[in-house]
Amino acid sequence: MVALSEPRRHRTAAVRVGGITIGGGAPVVVQSMTNTDTADLESTCRQVVELARAGSEIVRVTVNDLDSAKAVPALRERLDLLGHDVPIVGDFHYNGHRLLAEVPELGRALAKLRINPGNVGFGDKRDRQFEAMIEAALACDRPVRIGVNWGSLDQALAARLMDENAAKAKPEGAEFVLREALVRSALESAAQAERMGLGADKIVVSAKVSRVPDLVAVYRELARRSSYALHLGLTEAGMGTKGVAASAAALSVLLMDGIGDTIRCSLTPRPGETRTTEVKVCQEILQSLGLRSFAPEVAACPGCGRTTSTFFQELAQEIEGYLSQQMPVWKARYPGVETLKVAVMGCIVNGPGESKHADIGISLPGNGESPVAPVFIDGEKAATLRGDAIAREFQAMVERYVEERFGERPAA
Ligand code: SF4
Repeated sequence: MVALSEPRRHRTAAVRVGGITIGGGAPVVVQSMTNTDTADLESTCRQVVELARAGSEIVRVTVNDLDSAKAVPALRERLDLLGHDVPIVGDFHYNGHRLLAEVPELGRALAKLRINPGNVGFGDKRDRQFEAMIEAALACDRPVRIGVNWGSLDQALAARLMDENAAKAKPEGAEFVLREALVRSALESAAQAERMGLGADKIVVSAKVSRVPDLVAVYRELARRSSYALHLGLTEAGMGTKGVAASAAALSVLLMDGIGDTIRCSLTPRPGETRTTEVKVCQEILQSLGLRSFAPEVAACPGCGRTTSTFFQELAQEIEGYLSQQMPVWKARYPGVETLKVAVMGCIVNGPGESKHADIGISLPGNGESPVAPVFIDGEKAATLRGDAIAREFQAMVERYVEERFGERPAA
């Protein structure tokens, strides 16, 4: 039998962002970004709170003009008053050097600055403006993310690498050269920041692209060539199931390779859809990979011709709804409850087996089976439910199990 082992994490420097640690072996951090006008303090504050409540451990906001720059210190103050210490990251492009100089309180109100080396200025302004931003980070003792993006790649660097490649006896393909340009842009900018005195423990690196194979190739290179903490994310992942599937595919390959210290899923919300979906998807990716636990898991079979009624789908949905409804209270009362595993299965084929693997599981009767539902607790048959109250009784058993297993035990 082949022994499966935990993925070995790529060793990176630990970076403190507010009260959160990214890298250095810390659990992979979930982050997200607002889509409100940052200058609209009311809406931005509401969305940051919503994202933080959903589990976003760091929230990034756009800082694109003077109004948004001035709003950030007020946002920080308001969040503190509301009791939310979620770190806020400022996303800068083109004019960050000016905004940080014009609004002196801005840097300190942020927990990290995101700098895109491809959008920091062109020609001879590039280095000057990039360095002004690093100076600002040093002055307020804040870390930075050097965040390169496929859509705003440093054109001068890309052109230089294209020319060098064309001069080779055996030139590489254009895609290879562009990937190399992304990696070099990120690492050369990080090295430039280090030369100015910003420690590796103050630098997070990202290089986002929109295609899964490119993302995997780029991050493998970043991990091979550096030990900076890495922020993973597929840029412009897309909408609905496409965005979720692409993000999960890309992030899972890398995370299972031990690459990635913080993640974001850049999903496009459908009109009216909550922004928190991207947080939930990040959590589910990390939980599915066994890297973190955020909420109890319900294993439910897909159903098939052996279960033509919708009863077990309804029960699975009911249990899932019940667990997420209870979680805010349970989290405080029952430490560790997020690791709970519940199974709701549709028939005898896999029902008892899967239920035994869960902490508590129920195997419902399929077509033609006798109308009874065995319940398994910690791998042993604990009860047989029958009649119309199966759902209610099972729910009560879950509640009792949680209380007994995760509740406070009286001191011996
Ligand atoms: S457990 Fe039974 S009902 Fe569920 S998918 Fe398997 S065979 Fe079908």
